[in-house]
Amino acid sequence: MKQDKIVIVGAGVAGINAATKLVDNGYPGELITIIDKGSDPHNRLPEEVMTGMLGAGGWSDGKLTYHTAIGGQLSKYCGEDKAMELMDQVIANFRRFHPKPEEIFCSDPQEEPEFIKPYFGLRMFPVWHIGSNFLHEIAKAWYQYLVDKGVRFEWETQVEDIDFNNNRVYTHNADLKYDTLIFAVGKSGIDFAQELAQQYNLPDEPKPVQIGVRFEAPQKHFQKLIDVSYDFKLYHKFDNGVSLRSFCTNNNAAYVAVEETYGNVSYNGHAKKGEEFRNDMTNFGILMEIPGIEDPFEWSRKLVSNVNTSGTGLYYSPSRRPSLTSEGETVSAVAFSSRELEDIIKPAFQGYFKYIEDFIEDMKKVFPTLENDWGIYVPEVKYLSPEPLVDYTNLALTTFPNVHFVGDALSARGITVSGAQGIYVAENILSN
Ligand SMILES: Cc1cc2nc3c(=O)[nH]c(=O)nc-3n(C[C@H](O)[C@H](O)[C@H](O)COP(=O)(O)OP(=O)(O)OC[C@H]3O[C@@H](n4cnc5c(N)ncnc54)[C@H](O)[C@@H]3O)c2cc1C
Repeated sequence: MKQDKIVIVGAGVAGINAATKLVDNGYPGELITIIDKGSDPHNRLPEEVMTGMLGAGGWSDGKLTYHTAIGGQLSKYCGEDKAMELMDQVIANFRRFHPKPEEIFCSDPQEEPEFIKPYFGLRMFPVWHIGSNFLHEIAKAWYQYLVDKGVRFEWETQVEDIDFNNNRVYTHNADLKYDTLIFAVGKSGIDFAQELAQQYNLPDEPKPVQIGVRFEAPQKHFQKLIDVSYDFKLYHKFDNGVSLRSFCTNNNAAYVAVEETYGNVSYNGHAKKGEEFRNDMTNFGILMEIPGIEDPFEWSRKLVSNVNTSGTGLYYSPSRRPSLTSEGETVSAVAFSSRELEDIIKPAFQGYFKYIEDFIEDMKKVFPTLENDWGIYVPEVKYLSPEPLVDYTNLALTTFPNVHFVGDALSARGITVSGAQGIYVAENILSN
């Protein structure tokens, strides 16, 4: 039987798990070429966080979330049971190449505190902690295994173009023919993925809007919950599909940060390490996911533009003033009154601001000392890149069935889901 020549673009967790599944099951390694613009694990520097063997979080962080509600889309493609089984395989691979697998541990918070329950869900999920200090050794052992199996690697080689019609991958000095392509470029290749999507007019799946505000208050009001869950994720879902969640919680030395995207200001937050930065504040996004908006990207951009005033975003608080950034400057924002809240903010959110108000009202019930001691920076936004439309059975592009998209280049946002998508594709190739 003829076997395909497989080219994998990206040696991140998705690409590496795909190759491993293939060779584990007897696929000839000599038929697999992996191209990566970063370095092999012996030459990759610790600070090269985004590119090289094992990709982004597989090199520098290594917390493997183990739940289908987190880390991006997986069960949508293959169902809940299969998704968990695929994630098990990813975790088993990290265990297998780990120099001290007995040191891997799982944190699995179980109990949602009673005082939260009447008003919010609290998202809790198991996480396997691989140990960031072991990741480089894992990468080396894993790489050696694939090399021994005959897999060819091309490091420090950026793929610059792909001809989907003639099955060719172009680097700066060569071109390579493939029968099957696994496209696994992760976040550092997202612009390249967008270019290809435009060039080939790839159909995509609409993504819901994610927009809201950055909420800030003294930490003491939330301490009871922080003691249970440091990066707490409060959650609300309404019957019409609108859902809200607290996102990216920062504590202790927590600062609001100004972001500029597409020429407009929006907000985010970060925490600093070190006692000298302590400000005893908490901040987090309150992000709404709104399904059914026709052109979510344009809709969000217009909203963001409408709430920008004098070249910056807005701040509202019943009692406080904007805080200082970690550089000691006032966070750039135009403070607005409750009248302007009615006249500017609410119309810009087209009726959806009431969900944010509800969320804050419920927080005031759950955290009774909060009262009016809070402020919001408007807006916070996540522009979700369009997700290419794939055949759910094998993650192949609907218009180019020999090209499979996996990992962050598709819809993942985490190590376990990305690796699982790679394995899912490999299983499909093996079954053919
Ligand atoms: C600092 C950091 C910490 C993180 N920590 C965690 C964590 O603890 N847990 C978690 O679940 N998730 C974490 N993540 C997210 C997680 O790393 C990603 O979701 C995951 O790595 C995606 O896997 P991937 O294989 O799709 O892409 P990546 O792992 O990003 O790999 C993509 C690879 O493609 C290569 N590439 C890109 N473009 C090209 C091109 N044109 N030509 C050739 N090669 C190319 C890159 O060099 C890279 O090696 C973290 C991310 C970062 C940045």
